[in-house]
Amino acid sequence: MASCMRFRVNLKTFIKSISIKPYRNYDFPKSYSLNKNHPTAQKVVSFYDEEINKYASKPISPVKFQDLLRFGHPPLSPKKLVTSAQHVLKELPPRLAKRVQAFQNLPYIVGINPHLAYVYGLYYESFEYLRSYPEVKTSEDNIKFVDDLLTVVKSFADVIPRLSQGFRECQRYMSEEAIQNFLDGMIRARIGIRLIAEQHIALHHNLGPEHVGILNTALQPGQLFKSTGKLVEQICEINYGVSPKLELSGHVDAKFKYCPVHLEYIAIELLKNAFRATAEFYQKENISKHGSPNYSSELDLPPVTVTIAKDQPQICLLISDRGGGIPLSHMPHIFQYSFTTVSSFDSTDGSDSSAGAGNIFDIQSKMAMQSGIGGPMAGLGYGLPMTRIYAQYFGGGLEVQSIEGYGTDVYLTLPNIHENMQDVVI
Ligand code: ADP
Ligand code: MG
Repeated sequence: MASCMRFRVNLKTFIKSISIKPYRNYDFPKSYSLNKNHPTAQKVVSFYDEEINKYASKPISPVKFQDLLRFGHPPLSPKKLVTSAQHVLKELPPRLAKRVQAFQNLPYIVGINPHLAYVYGLYYESFEYLRSYPEVKTSEDNIKFVDDLLTVVKSFADVIPRLSQGFRECQRYMSEEAIQNFLDGMIRARIGIRLIAEQHIALHHNLGPEHVGILNTALQPGQLFKSTGKLVEQICEINYGVSPKLELSGHVDAKFKYCPVHLEYIAIELLKNAFRATAEFYQKENISKHGSPNYSSELDLPPVTVTIAKDQPQICLLISDRGGGIPLSHMPHIFQYSFTTVSSFDSTDGSDSSAGAGNIFDIQSKMAMQSGIGGPMAGLGYGLPMTRIYAQYFGGGLEVQSIEGYGTDVYLTLPNIHENMQDVVI
């Protein structure tokens, strides 16, 4: 009873603490000419634009690790920063145009879904904005550009829940495989677009000697999993009233060169899965044995363990839980977008094709509840597929092994980034 009360109180505080974003949570800088009073979720902006085709056909240069590392530690000379800004303005428009084209190639009935049209509009507007951005020649130009770029980056914050909701509603109009291909391309490109933009922004902040732009040359996966574990523990308590603990073993002090934002994403998703499975398995066992989910809070849940092994070229992590494993019949589906064992929330909510400003608060609050960091344990079914794309992005990998009725092991391998690694094309 006490734990049930605590759960309710915590949940209330938690929901309050999630800031619900307004429908259009970004505001393009004033010089931007498209009419931002017309939410793109309700109209398709424009199709078959020559500029889009021109830019989309431009070859995309790979992201070079040498480039990521070569600029050295901030603060950089103003000249170098201007060069970096010019690089961003050259690289982003073709990438955004390719995404706009991918949307245009969707079946019309899918393209007009309000959530997907919203994301389409976002890419289209960002493309237009950056394509026609005045040349950055001086430090002053660059200072303004960094601000404007940040606004664009922030505008992409709710793309994933929007895509998830949109495709959930359009499932019947596209094959599973076509949706999977579209989303794989979209998410991979999104990582690249963010990486290029955030690298430029990061070069203006001196975060310490080990930071080179978005890379950390002495990243400690042990520390990162420890702090992420604390956050997930809290979310787990809020959701279930109980939580397992995280235990680290192996090379817990190992360091390697990697992009911390990527590893954070991976850690939070994998830990949420492991914690959720453990808490639910524990509650199911309690119900079957004692008729109550949290029979005795004194009883410990089996810990989630993270074992770290550092080999020179790479870091291997094993995330193990005793949360009852994954049924064999689910295994072929766990990397499919939208595959989740959380029962569906959308029978009425997205009533969506008519979703105007009136009920968007409702939809967004549900999205916020299911959207990842700081959110609940699960529900979108995007955790594993996206985590694998993040892991593979710099040449790593992710594999899931499960013993049904016992627990799950996730093997994660990530390269120790160095200048001579093969370039990544995005
Ligand atoms: P979500 O967590 O939103 O459901 P994911 O892609 O992260 O989506 O996971 C998909 C499904 O795979 C989960 O709903 C769950 O059924 C299963 N799964 C993933 N990790 C584990 C785990 N460690 N233990 C048991 N089941 C898991
Ligand atoms: Mg998950």
